[in-house]
Amino acid sequence: MRSVLNLSRWRLATALLLASRAVAAAAPEPLAPHALLERLCDDFGGRLTGSRANVGAMDRLAQELRTLGYAPEKQDFPLPGWVRGEDRIDLVAPFARRLRVAALSYVQEHAPFEAEVVDIGNGRPGDYPITAVTGRVGLLASGSPLQTREIVAGASARGLRGVLFVNREGGGQLLARTGGMLGGALPLPVYSVAQEEGRWMQRLLARGTPVRVRLETKSRCVPVETTNLVVRVPGRVASRLIVGAHFDSWDLGQGAMDNGIGIAQVYALALGLRGKTPYHTIELIWFNGEEQGLWGSRAAAARLGDAPVVAMLNLDMVGVPIGVNALGDDSLLPALEKWHTARGEVKRLAKGVENLNWLASDHTPYQLAGVRTITFNGPIPRESVRYYHDFADMIDKVPPALIDDSAAVVLDLVRALADDTALSAWRRESVDTEKLFTRFGLEKRMMALGLWPFGAK
Ligand SMILES: [Zn+2]
Repeated sequence: MRSVLNLSRWRLATALLLASRAVAAAAPEPLAPHALLERLCDDFGGRLTGSRANVGAMDRLAQELRTLGYAPEKQDFPLPGWVRGEDRIDLVAPFARRLRVAALSYVQEHAPFEAEVVDIGNGRPGDYPITAVTGRVGLLASGSPLQTREIVAGASARGLRGVLFVNREGGGQLLARTGGMLGGALPLPVYSVAQEEGRWMQRLLARGTPVRVRLETKSRCVPVETTNLVVRVPGRVASRLIVGAHFDSWDLGQGAMDNGIGIAQVYALALGLRGKTPYHTIELIWFNGEEQGLWGSRAAAARLGDAPVVAMLNLDMVGVPIGVNALGDDSLLPALEKWHTARGEVKRLAKGVENLNWLASDHTPYQLAGVRTITFNGPIPRESVRYYHDFADMIDKVPPALIDDSAAVVLDLVRALADDTALSAWRRESVDTEKLFTRFGLEKRMMALGLWPFGAK
């Protein structure tokens, strides 16, 4: 009896073990958000919109979302894209040296040419030398308060053949600034040059030493077909709470901070909301084309039509939150205050609820569509954030705790808002939307984005 019993127990145990293995094989363990981000970064690299890396990484994310039981939907849209070829600038006088440079986006391929360099200070009219600068290459100081668009317009009006932007960050870094946001080829080539080499040239010019450079790039503008990726968590009502993060990045690094953090946070929401039925429907969306001019969020906002939307939460380089921001719309404050108060003394955010609009990330096109938008104030430590847009924006700058701790706060807010029956779908009148920008003096930057005058097509 005893041996029979033992045998049947053994058989039962074996059967259970095999069954659990079969279950495990059918449903692999979902990847933790940081682990997924590490794979996207290391297996694909920078996700410039339209690149093979971008497509491959988005497919990888979609595969992971299917593992979680979602049916991710690709929403296609075209954009005026740009690809990087070899960018090269050589100093030819007073001596030969290859400079550390990168073309800004929407710089168009050009034949190599040589020109004398002229210091144009901050690029304002009074900063130019009194003598003619036609045919030269302007060297722009790192602290210029002007928009790329204004600098380029001033430079081409004076007949410059190119502009070198001295980088804002030191240490050989590039691309603190980005190129045009309007989608057309820049009227003249603009390159980011390392701060140290830029200052070197500035010192030579200040002492009257002629500086000559030879410029060449194979970078060029190309039309691109790309997609946003969307998953829905159906709620009890159709009104939507949208949570978005841009998926694309610049190409020199991995885009781990900008905006891998947001990619991982939205994925963490997908993980945390599995099997839940909130009151409002939650739409999670990963945008492409943000870095080159908010193309993905413009496309998504244009698709909204009259869809009932509660609010849109944008996650672009959000570290561990110290505040939640209604981005200028007072009508959101009660719901955010309610959430913040309910967190209690221990979990309250140092800056609480804030209400300050800023540009330009994926919330802007939603704001223009009358949708209320939210983001977090979540600073990324200076020793990491100084590298964003550049070579060193890699996964080693993003510790797992940053993702876990920030995603916990994001999930907490999303669950609270999605279950807040007092919140209803709502769109601003266009006169109030206009005030959202004028109240914060944002018209000039909106113009640089091609989004102002307000209401113009
Ligand atoms: Zn970003």
